[in-house]
Amino acid sequence: MIRLSPLPGPCLLCGGGDGERKDGRWLCAICGWRYGDVPDDDLPRPRVDVVYYLRYERRVKIGTSANPRQRLARIRHDELLAFERGDRALEQQRHGEFAEWREAGEWFTFCAPLEAHTRGLRRAGAPWHQYARWVSETLQR
Ligand SMILES: [Zn+2]
Repeated sequence: MIRLSPLPGPCLLCGGGDGERKDGRWLCAICGWRYGDVPDDDLPRPRVDVVYYLRYERRVKIGTSANPRQRLARIRHDELLAFERGDRALEQQRHGEFAEWREAGEWFTFCAPLEAHTRGLRRAGAPWHQYARWVSETLQR
């Protein structure tokens, strides 16, 4: 079991407050960012494409974005069910898999298979935590 301690300050990438000490440095417990490494504001954020599953009442929108914070802010929804790392190709694949529950455009009935799929994705972590981890991994590559 990893012992977590409070970071000296909130993580710059995900805002997380806990970390672990490794090789004399702090690592964020949520996204793995090395605390103290400041992302250079002049450099563009790395591109991390995600497929998102947004529930509104009994429907789910399956879409894709490289800027999910901006994108989601513009779509009316009740709940972000899950993120999945992938771009247009994966989005199209999922649209095909759930085609029989398609209502209109990118909106699908929140059917049992879609519920199971998004629940499976969430097992790896809360959607925004997963996203922060992907950004962190990409930055550190
Ligand atoms: Zn973090």
